[in-house]
Amino acid sequence: MNDLHARWSHRWLSPKAEARKSAIHGTGVFAVESIKQGETVGVLGGVVVPVSDIREYWKIMGHVGIQIDDGFFIVPTTRDELESKGVFNHSCDPNIGYSNSITFVAMRDIGAGEELVFDYAFNETYHNPMECHCGTAHCRKMFTGNDWKLKELQDRYGAYFSPYLRSKIGKA
Ligand SMILES: [Zn+2]
Repeated sequence: MNDLHARWSHRWLSPKAEARKSAIHGTGVFAVESIKQGETVGVLGGVVVPVSDIREYWKIMGHVGIQIDDGFFIVPTTRDELESKGVFNHSCDPNIGYSNSITFVAMRDIGAGEELVFDYAFNETYHNPMECHCGTAHCRKMFTGNDWKLKELQDRYGAYFSPYLRSKIGKA
């Protein structure tokens, strides 16, 4: 940690949200006051990791970071940041989605106390199948790196996919 890290981190988070222990996984991010549909809730940054190295990175840091293109991820580099700031967890019934490759907006009005969650299908194509326990009516139970190809998800959430996937599914 240096002086710059004390003020800015890999990610900007809306002052209307904060890190809290999540029932989904680890430390999540929760609304502390109501957030309107379309409001920016987070902007993610970090360092760039090519997909050829991403599994090695995940072994060290766990499954964090965001895929921004077919070939690259942007990821945080310190555990302190992950633990103090939390990560946006996956849900099969998301309330935040992408407005550009690194920015999340509210997909609907979000109430104080709700966890901010996105669907990994919005941007990730590389992870192994993972079990989901989100418990929502839309829960897919298992989700994979190919879920962005599901017509049902494209129809429901097309505008909120990461731009590089939006262009592949004709929602650019
Ligand atoms: Zn689920």
